[in-house]
Amino acid sequence: MAHASFPISFEFFPTKTAEGAARHVQVRQALYARQPQFCSVTYGAGGSTQSGTFALVQAIQQEGVAAASHFSCIGATRESVRSELQQLKDMGVRRLVALRGDLPSGYGLGGEFQYASDLVAFIRAEFGDTFHIEVAAYPEVHPQARNPEADLRAFAAKARAGADSAITQYFFNADAYARFVDDAQRLGVGIPVVPGIMPILNASQLMRFSDATGAEIPRWIRLRLQAFGDDTASIRAFGLDVVARLCEQLRSLGAPGLHFYTMNQSAATLALCDRLGL
Ligand code: FAD
Repeated sequence: MAHASFPISFEFFPTKTAEGAARHVQVRQALYARQPQFCSVTYGAGGSTQSGTFALVQAIQQEGVAAASHFSCIGATRESVRSELQQLKDMGVRRLVALRGDLPSGYGLGGEFQYASDLVAFIRAEFGDTFHIEVAAYPEVHPQARNPEADLRAFAAKARAGADSAITQYFFNADAYARFVDDAQRLGVGIPVVPGIMPILNASQLMRFSDATGAEIPRWIRLRLQAFGDDTASIRAFGLDVVARLCEQLRSLGAPGLHFYTMNQSAATLALCDRLGL
């Protein structure tokens, strides 16, 4: 499939029911028309399973689009990681989003990998250059980081371990992105950092996610969303304006692409692409 001139990518999560899977085929087809560089599938997030991830990754590959499998290493052994990566390689997958992942609270770490940088180094040692490796970046600082500088060094460690590029947690402050990229460059890290873009679909869901991920919703956005109450049409129209403006700012700051958290829906992401001419 040909790619759009400005690189875009779409993120999905595995569906849980047969109806959900059937609906998702339509969502994917609508989004493929925008010629994404790749579509990625989350792994182990929100109670989903590895087999759900691999099944959706395989479907995307079979539809002629490059799939990226997210891959988290928390609680995993070297042997389990090796065999799952081999499965992905055999499916023709050539792109990974390598992550530490999160365990539900109350679980110990217990696995053979402590940080995403350990996973990146392992993938490079075992599979050479088979995979293009993406890692996560946090312009507003990962919620468990000791401090911003330590988090930046953790990001640099992932790049040094062999990551090719990065996708950020979503954010609504373009300045945080610009500063993060500058600071990473100051540490000698020049890999492309692609902003992760969250369309605004549902105010209460967004606020819940943002509390969990440490992504700040600026006060003026939060108050306006709250004032719309359950007026979904106004929330979406306002969200489209705010997020499209953010994307424009990011492009003018030199962002090398945009990665959309589609939330398995096409309308809001398509509206953003239309607004941005993508
Ligand atoms: P790491 O880079 O390992 O960092 C984790 C924490 O450890 C940070 O606070 C960091 O500062 C600290 N740290 C790292 N190295 C060191 C060190 N050497 N010494 C001290 N501290 C250190 N989660 C899922 O479960 N499934 C998914 O599919 C998924 N997809 C994601 C996609 C993107 C683009 C992003 C941004 C996040 C995604 N997540 C996903 C969430 C992610 O798993 C969590 O944010 C997780 O808590 C951290 O993962 P990481 O790979 O960033 O970890």
